[in-house]
Amino acid sequence: MTLKFCQGPDCHTHTYTTQDRLKGPKGNKTNQTRRRTSLYYGEFCDTRCQYAWLSKYATKAVDHFGRLTEVKHLTEDNAWIKDYDWSGGSDDRTYYFVNKITREQRPLTESQYNDSTYTLNTGE
Ligand SMILES: [Zn+2]
Repeated sequence: MTLKFCQGPDCHTHTYTTQDRLKGPKGNKTNQTRRRTSLYYGEFCDTRCQYAWLSKYATKAVDHFGRLTEVKHLTEDNAWIKDYDWSGGSDDRTYYFVNKITREQRPLTESQYNDSTYTLNTGE
């Protein structure tokens, strides 16, 4: 099975709370980057490694993938989300659309609720 390496730049230095990174024969042990068959935090073994990567590379990553340079707007046309009334219990839910700008609600069937392609939103 292929192991994924934690991409945290300082993963091998995090020795404070774990001993599982300490590997190798006696007298020749090293502290090593964590690897797992699957990583819970995407490319990282934990949130500390995730944050360390972000701290080091966030600016470069944003410059690479595209920096936001103007305010984005959520408009009425694009503010519909699906929700349901939790009070009725799991067998008797009332599903509805609610517009996060206008607060208007519109009825929704359970199958429409479960259909991820069904939306009232018309914008991007
Ligand atoms: Zn890590």
